[in-house]
Amino acid sequence: MPEENVDYSSEEFANAKREMDSLVYESLKGREMKPNALFARMADLAKAMPLSKDIVKWSRSNSVWPLQFGLACCAIELMDFGSARIDAERKGFLLFRSTPRQCDVMVIAGWVTKSMVPEIKRLYEQMLSPKYVIAFGECATCGGPWWESYNIVKGIDEVLPVDVYVAGCPPRPENLFGALMKLQKKIGGVVEG
Ligand code: SF4
Repeated sequence: MPEENVDYSSEEFANAKREMDSLVYESLKGREMKPNALFARMADLAKAMPLSKDIVKWSRSNSVWPLQFGLACCAIELMDFGSARIDAERKGFLLFRSTPRQCDVMVIAGWVTKSMVPEIKRLYEQMLSPKYVIAFGECATCGGPWWESYNIVKGIDEVLPVDVYVAGCPPRPENLFGALMKLQKKIGGVVEG
């Protein structure tokens, strides 16, 4: 019968569906359905495993996901940080993500104008918890050369909680590497060599 002529509301169709459901049900009887570890939440794993706190901390510190986001000239150094020369992945600093919903680290690279504050806050609020902030460079730390400007915030810590500060105008990508290693220590992971 062509598909368009099938009457899905018919008694015959309902009986066939019932029969198929009961066959599936019978075949699954007696089988234990274990939760899928791939989709388990970190919090559930933490409850289930001994030493869980340490494992969670270790996992978090070795899979840091920074947000792809820059504000001014320091962002050029941020781009260089992503280069093969630095090879940040070897320490667990993973790819820059373009959506805050997949990130847990925001690197403030550049000066913060007052008009950008609501946008930065919105991005921060959309990030996963626990989340961290790195103030990268003089402008992000204290306003830098624009300290007395009418429209520049005197440091991102007036807006967001900062975990690590990086000095320099601009700092080098290696300094960001060092800052992320400090952040790893703060999260609780062990930093090797
Ligand atoms: S710290 Fe220097 S390099 Fe970085 S954004 Fe400010 S002026 Fe530019």
